[in-house]
Amino acid sequence: MKFKYLFICFIVVLISGACEATAKKKIKVLIIDGQNNHAVWPKSTIMMRQYLEETGMFRVDIIRTKFLLNSQREAKYLPLADAGEGIETKPAKTDPDFNPDFSKYDVVISNFGWRTAPWPEDTQKAFEKYIRNGGGFVTVHAADNCFPEWKAYNKMIGIGGWDRNKKHGPYLYVDDKGYVVKDSISEGYGGAHGKKEDFIVTMYDQEHPISKGIPKTWLHAFDECYAKLRGPAENVTILGTAISTKSNRAEPMLMAIDYYKGRVFHTTLGHDTEAFSCVGFITTFLRGVEWAATSKVTIEIPEDFPGTDKVSQRAFELK
Ligand SMILES: [Zn+2]
Repeated sequence: MKFKYLFICFIVVLISGACEATAKKKIKVLIIDGQNNHAVWPKSTIMMRQYLEETGMFRVDIIRTKFLLNSQREAKYLPLADAGEGIETKPAKTDPDFNPDFSKYDVVISNFGWRTAPWPEDTQKAFEKYIRNGGGFVTVHAADNCFPEWKAYNKMIGIGGWDRNKKHGPYLYVDDKGYVVKDSISEGYGGAHGKKEDFIVTMYDQEHPISKGIPKTWLHAFDECYAKLRGPAENVTILGTAISTKSNRAEPMLMAIDYYKGRVFHTTLGHDTEAFSCVGFITTFLRGVEWAATSKVTIEIPEDFPGTDKVSQRAFELK
């Protein structure tokens, strides 16, 4: 009897030890936000957090600037702890106290947008160091509009849009024959999009861990198709493209960028709730976050991944 009791205790200790080990192994994610020209941002941050946590693989923190831009439309999604602290300003103002400890995280996701105020210089330096030493970064939609004058940031994201021109680097696209073109000759403002619509995303690279197994073409739900993005365009692997009505060219939609030891996943998708609900967006986002954090991808392609004739969206319910 005594032996049986000891044996049960031993098993309980083993199980709780295993549980603790599993909890410890969760990928640590930081979402940063607070200033975005897209009023959806308080909600889209929560959507991203929920998508990540639903997999059981990620633990997500959110840190935002104390000065907010366009936070009112979805203010109910601002966590209560922060709701009284945010101060709405227009234009965006630099928050001198914005200084997350990036080193505590495996991956940082930016939900900032066009004309976000520059971060304090020490925060910029800390972020550069974090990525250079092997940190992960994910830039979502208008986060590639940020910080046109921050040289290291432009290298991390590869290419970006708005407030950018020839001096920021070449215009990157894929030509009719399937060759990647870095156009350093033509002049022109970097960044454009047509009206929101459903459009086909074509997986240009099907061997990368993020894209492996994703159908060659799929219909993305109601979004802006970014075009004419410019930047240093160094060490960029184009994963997915779409034909823009603005340029009639295959423009990069999904990219993987190497920045020193760091990995960056760049998705241009995600203008508003409709696009964030697309199963194609959700799947590529989750796989991109996992890759940026770990260099590997284990998240599977779901049954409801879109085909080419019909969009596939999931209704979002806050948990
Ligand atoms: Zn947009």
